Amino acid sequence: MEPSTATCSELTASLTVERVAVANLPTEWGEFKIAGYRSLISDEEFVVLLKGEMRREVPTLVRIHSQCLTGDVFNSTKCDCGAQLHRTMQMIQDEGRGAVVYQQQEGRGIGILNKIRAYALQDEGADTVEANEQLGLAVDLREYRQCAEILFDLGLCQVRVISNNPLKLRALEAAGLNIVERVSIQVAPTEKAAGYLRTKKEKLGHLL
Ligand SMILES: [Zn+2]
Repeated sequence: MEPSTATCSELTASLTVERVAVANLPTEWGEFKIAGYRSLISDEEFVVLLKGEMRREVPTLVRIHSQCLTGDVFNSTKCDCGAQLHRTMQMIQDEGRGAVVYQQQEGRGIGILNKIRAYALQDEGADTVEANEQLGLAVDLREYRQCAEILFDLGLCQVRVISNNPLKLRALEAAGLNIVERVSIQVAPTEKAAGYLRTKKEKLGHLL
């Protein structure tokens, strides 16, 4: 047995997520499917956008996208989340195969109300990391283990991860996925997002 398959199979024994339903989802970028998952150990819910056939032996484009209401829905220019999500959907559409796990952990896990509090501090000059610290919140509360389980449950083992965040890559690997490639994602930053991106690079180790 290949080592990669062996690593992935460790995920089988201990799935803590359950697929609830899958449906078709036509989008501006093309035809996708949408799957809903729920955690068996918390009240967390996950949404996955996917396209094409998922196969264990095929290295497949994936992204763990962390919910950003302000960026994804309102197209805020304070960050690059909305642009990254849409660029990812275009990449998967072009490739004909791939998956986005949409992790509903707003603002790196702090929740939308705390995120707005942090934005208010940023209006007064704090950067994204300092704002969280002033609110007494951890800089990154996200957990990726269940995202890896979802990708495995969909039929994936070897993944090409679209991400600039090395922490996320390490977490997915630790959870048992075989990362065969990191696919970097670059979207043209707006002037307002430039400071935020600089902080992500300098303080959170993002590869930009
Ligand atoms: Zn954002």
